[in-house]
Amino acid sequence: MTTIEYDSLYIGGQWANPASTDRIQVTEAATERPAGSVPEAGERDIDAAVDAARRAFDEPGGWSTWEPARRGEVLERFAAALESRGGETARRVSVQNGMPLWLAQNFEAGFPALLLRYYTGLVADGQREVRAGMLGKKALVLREPIGVVAAIVPWNVPQAITFLKLAPALAAGNTVVLKPAPETVLDAFLMAEAAIEAGLPPGVLNVVPAGREAGAYLVAHPGVDKVSFTGSTAAGRAIAETCGRLLRPVTLELGGKSAAVVLDDADLGSSLESFFAATLLNNGQICWLGTRVLAPRARYGEIVETVTALASSLTIGNPLDPETKVGPLVSQRQRERVESYIAKGRAEGGRVTTGGGRPAGLDRGWFLEPTIFADVDPKATIAQEEIFGPVLAVIPYTDEDEAVAIANDSDFGLGGSVWTSDPARGAAFAGRVRSGTVGVNGYVNDPFVPFGGIKASGLGRELGPEGLAPFQALKSIYLDEANDPA
Ligand code: NAD
Repeated sequence: MTTIEYDSLYIGGQWANPASTDRIQVTEAATERPAGSVPEAGERDIDAAVDAARRAFDEPGGWSTWEPARRGEVLERFAAALESRGGETARRVSVQNGMPLWLAQNFEAGFPALLLRYYTGLVADGQREVRAGMLGKKALVLREPIGVVAAIVPWNVPQAITFLKLAPALAAGNTVVLKPAPETVLDAFLMAEAAIEAGLPPGVLNVVPAGREAGAYLVAHPGVDKVSFTGSTAAGRAIAETCGRLLRPVTLELGGKSAAVVLDDADLGSSLESFFAATLLNNGQICWLGTRVLAPRARYGEIVETVTALASSLTIGNPLDPETKVGPLVSQRQRERVESYIAKGRAEGGRVTTGGGRPAGLDRGWFLEPTIFADVDPKATIAQEEIFGPVLAVIPYTDEDEAVAIANDSDFGLGGSVWTSDPARGAAFAGRVRSGTVGVNGYVNDPFVPFGGIKASGLGRELGPEGLAPFQALKSIYLDEANDPA
């Protein structure tokens, strides 16, 4: 059995010897066998990475001063190098975190290059605006890169989330220190190989695989100008505190407990594939999934039956198998966490209609059956806290006003969906849901459209032009002339 082993860290544009002798061991989620290992970055490695990024950013005539088109040429080579590794990227992600391969091919192999091209195109023009002022003169309004970016990402959709940050940050002329999660580092090293092949200038991108303490060290590092974080709400709060103290700009994409609201005219049976994608995709390990299903009392039994039948029909198995709909959870720790929520759901009076345990015949790997709870009180723990596994709580409501009230009775506000045979009614309902994003009869993040949360789901937006703005600093130059500068 071959494992994937790396001995160096991608720092300063090359494979560098790590200062730390510690290593991160990665385990296959479906087999519990070793998948590979990489050096674990320590504080001295993070210092070296930030220094390299700092130098690359500050260097006169360097990356941050290049015309967008010149950076675009390098990023196009990066996109092509990533595409040529797309199959292997998808495979590595799938092996590490249990994401079904068909999904990894879509999210993890496809999104990085697409996002690089999108943001390269966005910054190609529009970075300088001459604006007529109110007082008779003109001003030059510039969108400049903000500096050295610390990008910290989770394990659940590691490559796509990485490029929600890298693509706008690099296209805008920033330099980046990326800290992947320890569960998913092998894909990050493959990405570093692509960066080397593409000829990213030294220090423009650096990768420091490590755990949360090293992440906190990076966030507070004096050489960092901006933090972009995706992960749990608890970690987000700690990072926000540090950034508040330092007055360091920060973007936070955090947890969710979104509502999938089935209206009384919905034909759920004809949208099962979309409903699955909006509620149980990636083994339940996506922040925006609608894990509270709200069903009208008049049709409650029938909707519980439909959702139960859907969950029990899903093929559970090795994520590399194209037939697999539900793979294992990322780790033993994560499965235990989800199982403790299932126990709590039972203890608080929820009725399990399917699942609730480990699937028969899959003794190795961190598998868990898709689990549906019916008769869940909206205040129950499993209706309020993020579980991050394939567990849905079906909650009854009487009328639309009550559905809105239950949907909004949450600390979070990230995703959500409405299911109806009347799209206009769906859009009107979506408008009443307090959340950063809501889908009508489906939920798909579109790269052109801002994504992010309110309340405990985060601060700021990614994707769309809005996802570029946090990586730019505005500068206004009040011109000493009434005409446009040459
Ligand atoms: P996590 O917060 O434990 O870890 C995420 C990343 O942050 C990892 O790289 C980790 O090493 C690092 N980290 C943890 N604590 C840190 C700290 N104090 N300072 C700096 N870095 C720190 O989350 P996880 O368990 O890996 O991921 C699951 C969570 O991420 C879920 O809560 C999920 O909702 C959330 N998530 C949110 C989004 C989104 O866009 N809103 C997307 C994916 C995942």
